[in-house]
Amino acid sequence: MRMEFANEPFTDFTKEQESAAYDAALGAVKEQLGRTYPLVIGGKAIETGRMLESTNPADKGQVIGIVHQADKELADQAIRIAYDTFLTWRHTSAKERASHLFKASAIMRRRKHEFSAWLTFESGKNRAEADADTAEAIDFMEFYAREMLRLSEPQPLTRLPEEDNELYYTPLGVGIVIPPWNFPLAIMAGMTTAALVSGNTVVLKPASPTAVIAAKFVELLEEAGVPAGVVNFLPGPGGEVGDFLVEHPLTRFISFTGSRDVGLRINERAAKTAPGQKWIKRVIAEMGGKDCIVVDSDADLELAADAITASAFGFSGQKCSACSRAIIHADVYDEVLERVVERTAKLKLGNPTERGTNLGPVVDEKAYAKILEYIEIGKSEGRLVHGGGIGDECGYYIEPTIFADVDAKARISQEEIFGPVVAFTKASSFEEALEFANNTDYGLTGAVISRNRAHLEQARREFFAGNLYLNRKCTGALVGVHPFGGFNMSGTDSKAGGRDYLLLFTQGKLVSEKM
Ligand code: GLU
Repeated sequence: MRMEFANEPFTDFTKEQESAAYDAALGAVKEQLGRTYPLVIGGKAIETGRMLESTNPADKGQVIGIVHQADKELADQAIRIAYDTFLTWRHTSAKERASHLFKASAIMRRRKHEFSAWLTFESGKNRAEADADTAEAIDFMEFYAREMLRLSEPQPLTRLPEEDNELYYTPLGVGIVIPPWNFPLAIMAGMTTAALVSGNTVVLKPASPTAVIAAKFVELLEEAGVPAGVVNFLPGPGGEVGDFLVEHPLTRFISFTGSRDVGLRINERAAKTAPGQKWIKRVIAEMGGKDCIVVDSDADLELAADAITASAFGFSGQKCSACSRAIIHADVYDEVLERVVERTAKLKLGNPTERGTNLGPVVDEKAYAKILEYIEIGKSEGRLVHGGGIGDECGYYIEPTIFADVDAKARISQEEIFGPVVAFTKASSFEEALEFANNTDYGLTGAVISRNRAHLEQARREFFAGNLYLNRKCTGALVGVHPFGGFNMSGTDSKAGGRDYLLLFTQGKLVSEKM
């Protein structure tokens, strides 16, 4: 019997030995920077000659890897091979498929710091954030493997005396997996392995800024024994290859995590039936957030300030769960603001390879320009009380930024910035705070810091978010503990890391035999 699922522990970097091991991994990975990565279709490496450099956001001149790019013809080839492979892969046992995930997670656990070091170089995560990303990737594989085993057991049905009835969860077909760059290992690995362990085959189109870490993961799957053609690695330009993959008649489902605009575009295109298509495509989409932390008049203010600072500035706010709005009861507004500013002033902005760095860079030029534009907008919508500037121009560094006295309807209170920017809004009552909290198009995460039981219960009922946290931060969902996904424009509430998740990648088949 396998042990019950338990979350992979985070590394304690206060221990010299652990930090030194991480530094050594950074050194080893540095030696491997600048290599070239091919497409992988049906187990074959394909070089197209059309290349895209992936660079280090902390040090723009440093090339992490050079990635061959697909075109439509290769995208078509990848889908066809995935389809052919599906015809046999779907008949493999759940046990066999799960065993590949257990193997892959064991390999990743052994090479944990190495994977995290790639994350630091390619996505700008500091060591704690990178370590959490790798731990979550391990968790997803361990969790989904067990989930598939559970789903393959006889499902509870009402029994009839003269019939033998069984319900099976069967796979769907070829899935297009389009993961984000902000959890380039965890979410990418979670989306891919959920699809394959359920018996589907995959065309994986990695996020361009973090295609190298995805290539490393595809290498690992091969090492773990996942057969050729089950996961096909297809880096390429989103507009050209992404649309083509979504619209292809052999595509059965699309699993997407990323921006609202791209998610809605995929949803629209997937809804159109292509000639020869036999099914309704399924879309699983995790999109944006405009998450907030509400602080009540009787709250523990230390806890509130810690929760806001961690949720707003962890990985420079580049999480869809990040706290981009702090909605504070008027009675404690000045005090909470002051404490958050105090804590933020102590955060170190710098190269994420260095020990003690709290905030690294934002991911790329596009994100950098967009965030700085929002900071300009913020200056006209609120009072800049901290940050607002940039760091060393060798990377995309932006200071942790706090705006006070922002209207709940202001643009920086409504639009997703995806950077280290938080807007403080004053509420005259708890009711008004909840009203502000719910007043966006999104509904991903949220938190309430309060000692008032009635208010906490009211939030349970009325706070409109897929992941609501009471008296804690609003980031850092753990696999199996906090199934993750949101309402409204945050996506299809797919609850990654939860017991419902694999059902999205399967269809139930009932077989009834008269005895
Ligand atoms: N699951 C992550 C968290 O709870 C956020 C995922 C995302 O940003 O897409 O912080």
